[in-house]
Amino acid sequence: MRIVVIGAGAAGCICAIELKRSLGAAARVDVFEAGDRTLAKVARTGGGRCNLTNTFEDTGDPAQVYPRGGRLMGRLFHTFSPEDTRQWFTREGIALKVEEDGRVFPVSDDAMQVVGTLRRLLREEDIPVRTRCKVLAIRPEADGFLLTIAGAAPERADAVVVTTGGSPVAGTLAALLPPDVETIPPVPSLFALNIPDKGLRALSGTTVPDTVLALSGTKIKAEGALLITFKGLSGPAALRLSSHAARILAERQYRAELRVNWLGRENVEEALAALKARSGDRLVRNAHPETIPGRLWAFLADRAGIPQELRWKDAGAKNTARLAETLRADTYPVDGKSPNGEEFVTCGGVSLAAVDPNTLEARCCPGLYFAGEVLDIDAVTGGFNLQAAWTTGVRVARSLAQKHKGD
Ligand SMILES: Cc1cc2nc3c(=O)[nH]c(=O)nc-3n(C[C@H](O)[C@H](O)[C@H](O)COP(=O)(O)OP(=O)(O)OC[C@H]3O[C@@H](n4cnc5c(N)ncnc54)[C@H](O)[C@@H]3O)c2cc1C
Repeated sequence: MRIVVIGAGAAGCICAIELKRSLGAAARVDVFEAGDRTLAKVARTGGGRCNLTNTFEDTGDPAQVYPRGGRLMGRLFHTFSPEDTRQWFTREGIALKVEEDGRVFPVSDDAMQVVGTLRRLLREEDIPVRTRCKVLAIRPEADGFLLTIAGAAPERADAVVVTTGGSPVAGTLAALLPPDVETIPPVPSLFALNIPDKGLRALSGTTVPDTVLALSGTKIKAEGALLITFKGLSGPAALRLSSHAARILAERQYRAELRVNWLGRENVEEALAALKARSGDRLVRNAHPETIPGRLWAFLADRAGIPQELRWKDAGAKNTARLAETLRADTYPVDGKSPNGEEFVTCGGVSLAAVDPNTLEARCCPGLYFAGEVLDIDAVTGGFNLQAAWTTGVRVARSLAQKHKGD
């Protein structure tokens, strides 16, 4: 029995290791990697610190963090949960720490510790990894699969696990897979929003801890801290919105209207009444809620048409209502997107309808499995994308082991 895992990223490596541990001598497991080394992306994750999972403590429903694949992930966590992931890496010698927001990192703050550990386990399990081995096509045959490889002779396999990650170029994945496997064209997720408002951009570097963003004309909303940049808006709330709205924004060519609630979940009227009560003699533009920095407040007061010399004690119902409206639903046109530093994630890939949700085996092609970002699963930032790679990688290993133990 020969199983070929295509792609030596997070999903491919954990899958190969778990497969070999379950099947032992009953199977030969090979990993084919197009690049010149394994786990190149993991080495760059979390700004080199590797945010390898999340406690999920603030996440009731996985759909909150997985705009695509939330239901499936909830189901697959019964096989390999975030807690299982933490135990797995701890057992392999990586001490982990949890940051305040639930993100999990190695205590060493070094992604290379995760890379080094997975590479050591591949060696210990005697799993041959062929680098510079790009698979061009997977074709089912009567008794397995034929793999076409760039610049090398074709290879045969009894089962194939595809863990080739997100492919930003449309058509690449469809060319690799048997034609019957349904794929969804890729579009980027997790990006900053370009806002061509000069006044807002002049506030670059300002952060607001609790905001709610909404995309006009949709039900899409995202909460969290917001960062004003020299191109528009970034930070957790903007990235989350970009993830939930990835497809719709792509369809609209990244032109949309954004509504910002600068006070997040706080009651705007109550916040303004409290300000008025304690700052009666001060100018409205100088006395602001704690969470809104002074320069931004003055900008918002201008947008609300508050007279320069107006004092809180003289602010009547009309001025207060305009201010409340600006704080609650401040609208900006979005025109384009910017990368979120180095981190990029694509949504799209193998349609979840094309795989059996219990095994991740292609419905139309027995023996062909998928794990990781190649599936149409992606998440907001916070360790959830790597968690999807670990969970789906282990799920495929267990599915194959259950099917082939004793072969
Ligand atoms: C800069 C950056 C930082 C990130 N930080 C985080 C983070 O901190 N936390 C988090 O949860 N997520 C993070 N992500 C997302 C996360 O890294 C990915 O979701 C995850 O690595 C996907 O794992 P994968 O195994 O599915 O794919 P990949 O890691 O992309 O691996 C796929 C592998 O397949 C190989 N391959 C592709 N095509 C072929 C082919 N035809 N033949 C052979 N091999 C092939 C590729 O060369 C690659 O090595 C980050 C992403 C980036 C880009």
